[in-house]
This record gives sequence, structure tokens and C-alpha cells, in this order.
Amino acid sequence: MNIISNRRPAFDRTTEYSHVGACITLAQWVLEECGVSETIPFSRSRPGRTASELLKVSFNERFTSRAGDATFGQMRIRLSGPLWPLMSKEQRYVTIVHEACHLVAWIRSGPAKAPHGFEWRNAMIECGVKPERTHSVDRTPILSEMGYLKASCGCRHHFVTPAKHAKIAAQSRSYICRSCHQKLVAEAYTESSKRYRF
Ligand SMILES: [Zn+2]
Ligand SMILES: [Zn+2]
Repeated sequence: MNIISNRRPAFDRTTEYSHVGACITLAQWVLEECGVSETIPFSRSRPGRTASELLKVSFNERFTSRAGDATFGQMRIRLSGPLWPLMSKEQRYVTIVHEACHLVAWIRSGPAKAPHGFEWRNAMIECGVKPERTHSVDRTPILSEMGYLKASCGCRHHFVTPAKHAKIAAQSRSYICRSCHQKLVAEAYTESSKRYRF
């Protein structure tokens, strides 16, 4: 559970966050909760508009590992189209808050050298979400669709191309895991606990 407080709106298990409208409402709440919704950030195309008015949310079909990102100049949050159907309501909630908090951090102190630094972490805590930098959405269906196959070592699962998988299975070539230094063994499919950037 990544939700750490009961602040309003506490994570609402009934909201799907499947439509842009619901996502925008939550992101706007984040701006309000952090006291920056009425701030007028730099906008070349729409000067004079508040952060809350400028805020946009869209889905990006090319995000197959990251859950989302945030672009300050346009006050825009992009969410992963492919990952979204694989995510729980809580994972969606956390992702939207995570990205909106990047906007908050930017509004408050400009672009940070470390995007997940002090300002971002503070904003996350103000919104009642644990400031974690990675997500653990199970990407098996996407990787499977992309043609990747699974191999394992002593420490985790690796996704490899079918050609590499065939070599591993035939033992015509061996690959060593850089973390645990054990040989990869070809495996059938399901993903466990790998984590990805938001
Ligand atoms: Zn390993
Ligand atoms: Zn982030």
C-alpha cells in the first residue's frame, strides 16, 4: 500500500481513473492540496492562465515501461496507454499523484537537478502518497506481445529476445546475470517483481 494518509480525497477505491476527466480532477486536486493551483506558470501559448487551467492529461501509446511523465512548460501529464489497463486503481492513483507532484515541484522551485528530489518528495507526502520512484506493474502481457521471452538467473527474471532465448534453451551460448553472476536459464512466461520508472 502506497497511500500513507487519510487526507481528502483519500484513495477512493471506486474511482476507475480510466478516463482523462477523472485523471485531470485528481491532478487538479494535487495542485490545490499543494497550494499551487492558482499559480500562473510560464506558458508561451496561453499566458495568464493558472496552473489548474493549463493542466492537461493524455495517454501515450509508446510508454511500455514508464507509467507516465510530466512536462512543465505545457503543464502536461502523459500516462502509459499500454500499461493503464494492467494497473490497479491504486497504481493509477499513485501514478497520477506522482506526475502531478513533478508539476508542483517545478512550479515551486523550477527544474530540479534530481527530478525525484526534495521538492517532489515533499509534495508526495503532502498528498499522502509514499514517495516511491518506481512502480511494479506486471508488464508480462506487453512484453509477451512485443515478443520477449523469459529467462532466469539466481536473483530475478530477465526478458530476452526470442533468438537469445533459443540460444539459452539450446545451451549453444551462455549469458551471465550482471547482478548475481549466475547463468541464465530459459523459462516459460510470467513476470515477478521487477520494478520500472514511473
Ligand atoms: Zn541474477
Ligand atoms: Zn517521476
